[in-house]
Amino acid sequence: MALRAQETSKSESEPKSLWHAVSPPGKRMAPLQGSIDIDVAIIGGGYTGFSTALHLLNSGASVCILEANTIGSGGSGRNNGQVIPVLSRVEPEDLERHYSEAGERLVGLVRDSAEDLFQLVRRENIACEAEQTGWFQPAHTVAHSILCEKRNAAWAARGAPCRMLDATETSNLLGSNAWDCGMLNPSGGHINPLMLLRGLAQACDKRGARIFENSPAHTIIRSGQRWQVTTPQGSVLCNAVLLATNAYSGEISSTLAPKVARSIIPVTSWQVSTKPIDEALARQILPQRQAVSDTRADLRFFRYDARNNLVSGGALALPFNGAKRIKNLIGRRLQKAFPQIGKPVFSHVWSGLVAITPDRYPHFHQLGPNYWSAVGFNGRGVALSVAIGRELAKAINGADLKDLALPLSAPTPVRFHGLVRAMARTALPYYRWRDKHPKK
Ligand SMILES: Cc1cc2nc3c(=O)[nH]c(=O)nc-3n(C[C@H](O)[C@H](O)[C@H](O)COP(=O)(O)OP(=O)(O)OC[C@H]3O[C@@H](n4cnc5c(N)ncnc54)[C@H](O)[C@@H]3O)c2cc1C
Repeated sequence: MALRAQETSKSESEPKSLWHAVSPPGKRMAPLQGSIDIDVAIIGGGYTGFSTALHLLNSGASVCILEANTIGSGGSGRNNGQVIPVLSRVEPEDLERHYSEAGERLVGLVRDSAEDLFQLVRRENIACEAEQTGWFQPAHTVAHSILCEKRNAAWAARGAPCRMLDATETSNLLGSNAWDCGMLNPSGGHINPLMLLRGLAQACDKRGARIFENSPAHTIIRSGQRWQVTTPQGSVLCNAVLLATNAYSGEISSTLAPKVARSIIPVTSWQVSTKPIDEALARQILPQRQAVSDTRADLRFFRYDARNNLVSGGALALPFNGAKRIKNLIGRRLQKAFPQIGKPVFSHVWSGLVAITPDRYPHFHQLGPNYWSAVGFNGRGVALSVAIGRELAKAINGADLKDLALPLSAPTPVRFHGLVRAMARTALPYYRWRDKHPKK
């Protein structure tokens, strides 16, 4: 099969993913033309936007979603599909210390986020190749094992259904001796990310949402007691606005919400998928089909999709010739962890932008009267952004903020944003060194 890395369309700035190749096509939506009057305008057609929309529609609000490209062209259509009920580097006690009671509520939301997502999939009957086989975080050094044990104890103390696996259990679960132990959370698993997104969009469509593709929001301005959002061919008059643009916040319109756009660092994450692994081999490698991402800063992660393609990926320090170099890098890593796999043959290579925040916390902002944003999911947004949609919908509906798992902060633009963004990937060699020489 031809590699898809170079395949781009006018409307999508990123290469097409495995998910775009294997998923049934989504319903195409026309661009916004003319003026509409609605309760809530949501900017960004990813999980955050559609999850919030679904809750709002269920509460009786009228909602429109403006997507700059096509639904699935952002992170929600091109991620690894791992449903992970923890944050990447922020521990539950950090959230509680930082945000007090709102932090405790956010911890509860994160803890339940994977289970909630799989329940939503079942309730809405979303065909998205969902497998609630668990999420596993293995550790490869003594220092990382200690981190993993601490993390496991912290989440278990807060009611998460996680447990530590020892060396033998880890080796049996992975079909590899490359890790020493790990934390297993059976509420996690994996989904086909694009099918999940299209399923959410379909659920919103059925409930009467107005969904517009190829409709980039260019301005959001106050109009009396209401908001006016403009696109190249139309405008929306509304009571509330949600900016749900995450890593792509500054990519389409850098002037729409510049403080938010500059509060995150968009970092390219490369994804690769192998050709289907044959049944006999798949019984040896990851036989119970968990989603796996380890404790390294330069993360090792992989999962099977429904066709037994092993879907993995990583980051590159230099941007040139990325598709070829990531195949070589991940091919070597897979072979080292799973010698029985031989030389992996890849069918698809693609990439997308992950929104990293300097403090690694997700950030929630109120940017004006009933104008909200949620960004900075730090590569953990599948379960989290879907779960946070419920809280955003409550906020938009006027709930008391002290009852919500939505700790708000002011957007803090990163100084010298352009430079920091350009330099971000050059930190990778340091992370790799740190992964091998962890702090004691
Ligand atoms: C390669 C990759 C792998 C990942 N793997 C995982 C994983 O395995 N597990 C996990 O938990 N998380 C993962 N993530 C993160 C996860 O995908 C994101 O956190 C999540 O999809 C964010 O959803 P969202 O709706 O907030 O943003 P997105 O899905 O990115 O949607 C934002 C949308 O806003 C649109 N937009 C931007 N500006 C405008 C504008 N002016 N007007 C209209 N629309 C606009 C964009 O076109 C985009 O479609 C990964 C991310 C990437 C990129």
